[in-house]
Amino acid sequence: MKPETRFRVKYRNARVWVTGRKLGMCMACGEKGRTEMHHWHYAYTTDEVRKDPQLANHHTIELCFKCHRTANMIKNLADDEPRTKKVSFALRYLFIAIEKEKLGIV
Ligand SMILES: [Zn+2]
Repeated sequence: MKPETRFRVKYRNARVWVTGRKLGMCMACGEKGRTEMHHWHYAYTTDEVRKDPQLANHHTIELCFKCHRTANMIKNLADDEPRTKKVSFALRYLFIAIEKEKLGIV
């Protein structure tokens, strides 16, 4: 098993040092190298984490930068479902309009 190391974790708008195990591998795509900890759930306030930085290690998954960006987008989609539906419908109508224009049936 990999030994524990110290690394920085961003928790909401706080940055803290934690002790834990990082594999240096993305848990989503398997890419090796620089990884980040993605919080799939924020259970604590920033003040609680500043008092006890190890809390920032909870509810995390190790991801590469690209998968972390995608995970945040998915989280944003889920967190604002009504807006996600509106944007989805708007994009569908745009797609239909573009296809109609290509076919000359505007
Ligand atoms: Zn990845």
